[in-house]
Amino acid sequence: MAITGMEEQAKQYQLTPWRRLKRHFREAFSEQFEYRRNELDAEGIHRQERKRFRDAYRYILLLLVCVLFPMLAHNVYTGQPLLAAASFILLSVIFANIWLLSRSRRAFLSPTLLLLLAILLILFAVALGQLHSLFWLYPLLAGLPVMLRSRRAMLIGVVSGAMALPLIFPNFPLSMAVVISVSLGLTWLVSAWLVFAVTEQSRRLRDMAITDPLTGAYNRRYLEEQARHALNAWQRSRYPAAMLLIDVDHFKRVNDRYGHAAGDQAIKRLVEVISARIRSVDTLCRFGGEEFVVLLKETGIAGARQVGEELRRLVADARLLPEVSMTISIGVCEVKEAQSLDHWFNLADAALYLAKSKGRNRVELAARVAEHTEPIVRTVPEWR
Ligand code: GH3
Ligand code: MG
Ligand code: MG
Repeated sequence: MAITGMEEQAKQYQLTPWRRLKRHFREAFSEQFEYRRNELDAEGIHRQERKRFRDAYRYILLLLVCVLFPMLAHNVYTGQPLLAAASFILLSVIFANIWLLSRSRRAFLSPTLLLLLAILLILFAVALGQLHSLFWLYPLLAGLPVMLRSRRAMLIGVVSGAMALPLIFPNFPLSMAVVISVSLGLTWLVSAWLVFAVTEQSRRLRDMAITDPLTGAYNRRYLEEQARHALNAWQRSRYPAAMLLIDVDHFKRVNDRYGHAAGDQAIKRLVEVISARIRSVDTLCRFGGEEFVVLLKETGIAGARQVGEELRRLVADARLLPEVSMTISIGVCEVKEAQSLDHWFNLADAALYLAKSKGRNRVELAARVAEHTEPIVRTVPEWR
C-alpha cells in the first residue's frame, strides 16, 4: 500500500549510515530486491525481471566467450589436450545457447551454471600448473553480480573463493598471494556494489515517476497504466474490476476557512483512511486535486458498491482535520460497462456527478446514470 511505502522510506532515512548500508545489502542480496507497494506491481516486476534475465544471459555468454576463446587458443597452441577439449566443449555449449537465443528460443543451461563451469575450468587450469589462468577469474568475478539470482551469485563467489585460496597460497609467495586474494574479493565486491546501486537508483526513479509527492498515493500516470491492464484483462479473460471515483465534498470551503495547508493535511489524512481499508491488490491513485480513484481488482459491482459505502462511512466518521468533519461522494463503475479507458473514466465521472447532484456524501453507480434525465456535466477535468 502506498502509505506503507512512504513510511518505509521515512524509516530508512532515520537509520544510521551503517544500518542503512547493512539494510541496502540485505535487500540487494535477497531474491526479490525489487521494492513493491502492491500486488499489481508484481506483474511489472516479473516483466522487468525476465528482461533483465535475458540481458544478463547475453552479457554472461559474451563474457564467457571472451575468456574461454583465448584459453582454448592457448591450450591448443601449447598442446594441452585436456584443457583444450574442456574449453572447446564449454564454448560449444555457449555458442549453441547463443544460437538458440538469437532464434528467440529458450537456452538450455542457466548462465549461473555456465559461469560456475567456467570458473571451475579456470581453477582446474591453475591446479594443472597454468598459474596465469588465475587472472581470468577477475572478469568472471566482475560479471558474477549481474546474475539475477543474487544469492546464487554470492554463493558462487564464496565457493570459488574457497576453492581458489588453496590454489593461490602454495603457488605464490605469501605477500603476492594475499594481494591476489584481496584484489579478487574486491573485484567481486565493487562490481556487486555497482550493480545494486544501479538497481536501487532505477527503483527510486520508477517510484518517483508513479507517486504523488503530497500524499504518497500513486499518481495518474500509474492509474492509467493499471486501468489499462484491468480493461485488457476484462476484454481478454473476463476478469472483473471496478473503479471508484472519489471527490471530497465542498473542499473549497475547507481551504477558504482553514487555509491551504490545512486543506493539504486533510487530503493526506484522507489517503491514510482509504489506504487502511482497501486490500493490497487495490490501487489508490490521486486523480488530481482532491479527487482520487480506487481501482478494485477482481471485484464486481456489488462488491465495489459495498467498498464505496464503507469508505464513505469511514471518511464521514473520521476527522480529516481536528474538529472538522468532511464527507466524500463516490461514483462507481464496473469495467464491463466500459468500451475504452476514456469511456470508463467518463462513466465513473457521470456517476460521481449524480452523487453530487443528489446531495453529496453518497455512492452512486454508473448504471444508474441512464435512469436520470438531467444532462450530465463533468465534475472532474478531462481525462488526459
Ligand atoms: P464539490 O462538493 O462540488 O466537489 O465542491 P468542492 O468545493 O470540493 O469543488 P471542487 O471539487 O470542484 O473543488 C476542488 C477544490 O479543491 C479546488 C481547489 O481549491 C482545492 N484543491 C485542489 N487541489 C488541492 C490541493 O492539493 N491542496 C489543497 N489544499 N486544495 C486543493
Ligand atoms: Mg473536485
Ligand atoms: Mg470536491
